Amino acid sequence: DTRIARISSAIRVIPDFPKPGILFQDITTLLLDPRAFRDSIDLFVERYKDKNISVVAGIEARGFIFGPPIALAIGAKFVPMRKPKKLPGEVISEEYSLEYGTDVMEMHVGAVQAGERALIVDDLIATGGTLCAAIRLLERVGVDVVECACVIELPELKGRDRLGDKPLFVLING
Ligand code: IMP
Repeated sequence: DTRIARISSAIRVIPDFPKPGILFQDITTLLLDPRAFRDSIDLFVERYKDKNISVVAGIEARGFIFGPPIALAIGAKFVPMRKPKKLPGEVISEEYSLEYGTDVMEMHVGAVQAGERALIVDDLIATGGTLCAAIRLLERVGVDVVECACVIELPELKGRDRLGDKPLFVLING
């Protein structure tokens, strides 16, 4: 697929960021290439447009870049899944583990209703811990999480296995 090749070559890999030994996949260079950025959104929209999805949940921060154009194109609402203490209204929270320590993800109460069908969007899946937290948060309020979608998967980290039988769709492997 020429679109996948274009997306792949627009993503930059930066060694030793944010720490020595880490190869950081940088999607900001994809955003500098309107054709490649458009291709990435189109591939998601083609997959999700007829799936009866009413919620696109985007994970802070780069899920806020890819989620909203997908949501607009498929006629769904966009719901931000944020770092703690950012959302001004009443929230529900989910704690999850990181390499060192824990983090918390929050969503506004009332943003979604039980029985809605959701797609979760982020730029990248590594260990899968972040997506798992988003799934738990949405499922706690009765939402049906149809699939998770990322631009990049790091397959060696086996995040896909951590999602169990929850479907994961990615554009490229990092
Ligand atoms: P996980 O929870 O281990 O799957 O990590 C995924 C989260 O970390 C996502 O929100 C990503 O945005 C972020 N992340 C981890 N590694 C990278 C990277 O190489 N590039 C961009 N984001 C990354």
